[in-house]
Amino acid sequence: MSAANSPAKRVILLGSTGSIGTSALKVARDIPERMQIVGLAANSSADALVQQAIETGVKHVALTDAAAAAKARAQLPDGVALHTGTQGLIDLVNECEADMVLVAIVGTAGLAPALAAIERGMHLAVASKEILVMAGEAVTEAAKRKNVNLLPVDSEHNAIFQCLEGHRHSEVRRILLTASGGPFRQLPADQLPAVTVAQALKHPTWTMGRKITIDSATLFNKGLEMIEAKWLFDVPMDKIEVVVHPQSIVHSMVEFADNSVIAQLSHSDMCFPIQYAVTWPDRVPNNLKPLDFAKLAALHFEAPRVDDFPAINLARHAGTIGGTLPAVLNAANEVAVEDFLNGQLTFPGIWQTVERVMTAHQVIAHPTLDALIEADAWARREATTLSK
Ligand code: NDP
Repeated sequence: MSAANSPAKRVILLGSTGSIGTSALKVARDIPERMQIVGLAANSSADALVQQAIETGVKHVALTDAAAAAKARAQLPDGVALHTGTQGLIDLVNECEADMVLVAIVGTAGLAPALAAIERGMHLAVASKEILVMAGEAVTEAAKRKNVNLLPVDSEHNAIFQCLEGHRHSEVRRILLTASGGPFRQLPADQLPAVTVAQALKHPTWTMGRKITIDSATLFNKGLEMIEAKWLFDVPMDKIEVVVHPQSIVHSMVEFADNSVIAQLSHSDMCFPIQYAVTWPDRVPNNLKPLDFAKLAALHFEAPRVDDFPAINLARHAGTIGGTLPAVLNAANEVAVEDFLNGQLTFPGIWQTVERVMTAHQVIAHPTLDALIEADAWARREATTLSK
């Protein structure tokens, strides 16, 4: 079938009320002939979810929070099935007919529905990097077994995916993940302890949810992305490098055996990678803003300050050791970010907490899913205790 007459992909959107979720709805409005939203899920944003259900005409929605679900029930149009609780996310995936599930739930709550989607043979568009950091082996193995595509939505991984197309895996020398450097790229190290929540939430180039915005400021976002890249592209950690690129125009690059580098460029708008994940392998016209090279300022690149921002080295260590350690890094970071946002931790306290939890952890190699869930819960308890 040609690109022109491919049918619209039916997509379940997990995390529909968030930053990625609302961008995905924008893409669906832009290319309705290629993307149809058939299911929606959020945690507690009842009003927004009801509005989205009315706009899209979906027949299945989920809200994990019980009080929010009770509120939404009264407002949803007749004939819309409402699934609730954590199980509601799995029920949504199991009961709704779809071609693809876009996982855009912050944190690891998207793992169980993602695995359920794979079992049903639905393709996955993955924004939630945390699920690959925690359980990359389980997710990639299940996807392989069920012949399901894992399509990266994270802009860097979507870029790498594009750079790798048509090339041999054995010819990849390095994956070059670009990083904006966050709001504190040039801040002297001795001023990092005084950083406020408001300053950390001011990202220079991207508008995103709170958790990923803090992760971008600490560089844990890049650390998580390194581990995400290892699983998505089957490359060892020592082939994955980080390059700071403050303009966020080059979304990542791949260097090949002949020292040639291929890069992917666009404006910093998540609609680009979301659309490509949905329409792949086709490229279709849209209303997104093209690059105007005459107006672009210089593109600048520099090395990350790994001594002042230890997240990259912590993630490299976790990804190299493997086993339960990446899940522990991820869970400790989630708790530490929340504690920073609540004023219980300083900004450097985030990576100090993660490092202490990682040091205290007894790594289990090749863990089962249950062992990963247990390591995740242990790391959350440990991080909570440390930040008190
Ligand atoms: P937001 O905080 O903006 O949105 C999170 C979404 O997840 C909301 O819809 C929220 O619902 C929902 N949610 C949270 N917890 C649960 C739960 N337990 N069950 C069901 N739904 C839940 O996050 P972002 O959109 O910024 O990020 C989402 C994911 O995408 C993250 O993993 C992030 O790392 C990744 N990502 C984000 C990018 C971005 O540009 N924002 C770029 C690349 C990756 P509610 O509104 O009810 O709370």
